[in-house]
Amino acid sequence: MSMRPENPRMPQDTCLDPTERDALDVTDARHRIRSAIQPLLEKERIALKDSLNRILAEDLRAPFNVPPHANSAMDGYAVRSADLPHTQQRRLTVIGTALAGAPFAGEVAAGQCVRIMTGGVLPRGCDTVIMQEQAVREGDVITINSGHSAGQHVRPAGEDLAAGQQVFKAGKRISAADLGLLASLGVSVVTVIRRPRVAFFSTGDELRAVGEPLTEGAIYDSNRYTLLGLLLQTGVAPLDLGVVRDRQDELRAALIRAAAQADAVITTGGVSVGDADFVRDTLAGLGEVEFWKVGMKPGRPFTFGRIAQAWFFGLPGNPVSTMATYYQFVQPALRQLMGEEAHPPLQFKVPCVTALKKAPGRMEFQRGILETTAAGDTVVRSTGGQGSNLLRSMSEANCFIVLPAAWGDVAAGTLVEVQPFAGL
Ligand code: AMP
Ligand code: MG
Repeated sequence: MSMRPENPRMPQDTCLDPTERDALDVTDARHRIRSAIQPLLEKERIALKDSLNRILAEDLRAPFNVPPHANSAMDGYAVRSADLPHTQQRRLTVIGTALAGAPFAGEVAAGQCVRIMTGGVLPRGCDTVIMQEQAVREGDVITINSGHSAGQHVRPAGEDLAAGQQVFKAGKRISAADLGLLASLGVSVVTVIRRPRVAFFSTGDELRAVGEPLTEGAIYDSNRYTLLGLLLQTGVAPLDLGVVRDRQDELRAALIRAAAQADAVITTGGVSVGDADFVRDTLAGLGEVEFWKVGMKPGRPFTFGRIAQAWFFGLPGNPVSTMATYYQFVQPALRQLMGEEAHPPLQFKVPCVTALKKAPGRMEFQRGILETTAAGDTVVRSTGGQGSNLLRSMSEANCFIVLPAAWGDVAAGTLVEVQPFAGL
């Protein structure tokens, strides 16, 4: 193999393979996408119960305190801190009860207390709660010991959210906790960004849809199902356009149809340099090719571009390459399109307990299983075979092991970067 050290695009030590020379590195590819995409601006008002995973379109301040009133964190007795004994015991008279939702209406004077349950509003005059286990009750009188502190077991008004406080900024993805937080503010309708429509299809003469018989040489189209799952998780509106054969005219027609009805178009397969790989040339004839080669494994022939008003992502056909390029490029792009605040993937270092095979040249996204050992250490191990056709490796993995382009083989025990799927 001839080395071309005069080539200015790649440092010599990452230029071992001539197919790498015009590849963008992963960081540059991410930047190119990030600086191209403009977020959608259209908003819609939807019911709170339908808003999980949607992106808030407006900032939100708390209109009132949550909780609205100081209340008890324990079942016990609401008392005045001035009545707490410093040394001996003290007897207090129970003058009523405060249940959650049924406050005590009166005022509590010196020497008095109120039976109170968790969530019960603190009666006027009281500022402290004694746990029922720490009071001895006889009739209407309780006896308490010293050692209590003023204000204990009280949840102040506004402790969770203070009136006027900013609760959410536009761009927040609504989680299960957020649904509850919004409900605690009495919000029943939220303003969110319109869901992007994402059309996708598979390319390949060998592909059969599930339900069809498999003829010789054919395989089932798995990418369309993987992608459907990924798109639903991302929170866009997926539009499944089926399988398109490896014919340039059919591909062209399918791309035009897809771009006409979607904000983004995703294809799988046909982006390599084989005789039946027409995607890049067809894209070039219809729209713009931003780039078509990334220095990563799996996923080198990932293609990014535009057809009319739709963003285009051409993912390689091997099932692991499809997923790896989706996670690394498409998902962040769609999240940006949805107006979601930027969020770099969660990535950290852990020891890798298995040796990993790697050739210098491309950044690799190997499949790993993060786990906690009996000794309590978090480590990662390889799922085994790393062929980009082995979809099972993605099913078993819970993270990518991210290996820098320049690295070669990795010895067991080496600290490696991992990206948990949950943080992607
Ligand atoms: P390609 O990128 O079209 O050259 O495809 C690379 C490899 O991925 C080939 O072995 C294809 O058969 C396989 N492949 C492509 N598309 C799919 C798909 N939708 N489902 C499963 N395998 C696929
Ligand atoms: Mg193909």
